[in-house]
Amino acid sequence: MTSVPTISLNNGTSIPQLGYGVFQIKPDETKDATLSAFEVGYRHIDTAQMYQNEAGVGEALAASDLARDDVFITSKLNNGFHAHDDALAAFDLTLSTLGVDQIDLFLIHWPMPGIDIDFVETWKALEEVYRDGRAKAIGVSNFQANHLHRLIEETDVVPAVNQIEVHPYLVQDELREVCRELGIAVEAWSPIAQGQVLDNPAITGIAAEIGRTAAQVVLRWHIQRGDIVFPKSVTRSRVEENFALFDFELDNAQMGMITALDQGHRTGPNPDEFNYIPS
Ligand code: NDP
Repeated sequence: MTSVPTISLNNGTSIPQLGYGVFQIKPDETKDATLSAFEVGYRHIDTAQMYQNEAGVGEALAASDLARDDVFITSKLNNGFHAHDDALAAFDLTLSTLGVDQIDLFLIHWPMPGIDIDFVETWKALEEVYRDGRAKAIGVSNFQANHLHRLIEETDVVPAVNQIEVHPYLVQDELREVCRELGIAVEAWSPIAQGQVLDNPAITGIAAEIGRTAAQVVLRWHIQRGDIVFPKSVTRSRVEENFALFDFELDNAQMGMITALDQGHRTGPNPDEFNYIPS
């Protein structure tokens, strides 16, 4: 079976560079989808409280023949729990919903800059679950450079990751460089821009040249840039296709052509403006 490279986070925790994202997978389909991803070889699952499908991930883990240590699981704090005690209670709920004693990585999902209770207080709760060992690593998602700097100045633990939107139409090189300087690994969400980049002629051209699919070309571009990715698909053939990234390489010219497609285009919300609290 393909061996997926791992990345060592700033506290020494090892994370598979390629995982399986479950955003927008229906709660009652998540168990089977995750089991199918395990069969293909994925050992890293990215879920969130907001996705309402942590239970399905936990059920898949329990139904599989994999040991807990074989699978890296990430979840994220929902936006309504940005307060110290609420964050702790929500974290407990994530562990019980997943049916695990420890999570590999727990993130603040969005910085929510427009709300009264800020992410610094919330981060202090995450530091507690990190210190007591119930989260192997903690990190953030959708944090801009100013949010990262503030967090690092005002708290003790440097986030292990920043999970941000990155794909060929939003290459994020400035923010990725800030993360690199701070020792924070970058996780690229919506790595194929939810499919929007797959018919770009530069990408389909490279794909034809090397006999790969457009999705494989884009995912390979992320891997060679050193970011962590977890494409989502409920289509078994695509789940397999997205896993077959480690028997070919893009050359420098191909890498450069893809990076040059940047147009600052977001498929998701702008973190500076997103203050949404789910009901
Ligand atoms: P992706 O960029 O992974 O794209 C998913 C879409 O592309 C689906 O419609 C899927 O269709 C389709 N697709 C997948 N593989 C292929 C393929 N090989 N060929 C053609 N189409 C394909 O988008 P996501 O937004 O799901 O991002 C991935 C993960 O990132 C999420 O699941 C989640 O874990 C994380 N994320 C985090 C966010 C955050 O705020 N932290 C925000 C958004 C995502 P189908 O399923 O029908 O096959």
